[in-house]
Amino acid sequence: MHKIDEKLANVTARLTQAALQAHRSDADIALIAVSKTQPAECLRQAYQAGQRRFGENYLQEALDKQQALADLPDIEWHFIGPIQSNKTRAIAEHFAWVHSVDRLKIAKRLSEQRPVTMPALNICLQVNIDGEDSKSGVTPEQLPALAREVNALPNIHLRGLMAIPAPQSDAHKQRESFIRMHQLLVALNETSSEAPTGKGPLDSLSMGMSADLEAAVSAGTTMVRIGTDIFGPRATPPTTPPHK
Ligand SMILES: *Cc1c(COP(=O)(O)O)cnc(C)c1O
Repeated sequence: MHKIDEKLANVTARLTQAALQAHRSDADIALIAVSKTQPAECLRQAYQAGQRRFGENYLQEALDKQQALADLPDIEWHFIGPIQSNKTRAIAEHFAWVHSVDRLKIAKRLSEQRPVTMPALNICLQVNIDGEDSKSGVTPEQLPALAREVNALPNIHLRGLMAIPAPQSDAHKQRESFIRMHQLLVALNETSSEAPTGKGPLDSLSMGMSADLEAAVSAGTTMVRIGTDIFGPRATPPTTPPHK
């Protein structure tokens, strides 16, 4: 098995190559290392290899790792998992970005609970782009209304959209869902320019994982979320989810 620094270098090289093919600058695409289920020591190895952005799905696990890595002050933490309303305060206090907002109620709580001493919390709205029953996210039809309401909240900064498309092995099929996401972002920016919010246009698309990074880059992603190809396979989750 390769070491984390080698895997990270491979992913970075893939990103650079994909950007080149898409006539984009790789500087416009942030790499989020998705570290769910990985021990803090593995994040530390990635950090030592230069990685600064980490994505976590489970709050308690993330808080434990943040404490274990408190000596690394410039990590940027991204929350990318489903959000229960009783978890919003800790998320608002301990993360720079939240990618998985799909309800106004959650966005309101995050805005209310974001400490005023911290910069606005960066938010992406999760879209269920392939209409799957198993996935979270708003429908493309619900998106404009939710975006308008979230954009009006004071302590959060609506940055863009996030999606986890249905798995496809074919790169062209992968790209179709990502292209629809890109079109949704463009459409939101066109309508919101009629009513300026002072927060600027939405500039972020959080999409692309280990298996479909290249397709996401070709369709305009600005944040890829890579787990397996940086840290290796995850341990199988426990059969009973932890009750926290
Ligand atoms: C686990 C996870 C990823 C990373 O997936 P890999 O296939 O391991 O790269 C990305 N985004 C979300 C929301 C995840 O839960």
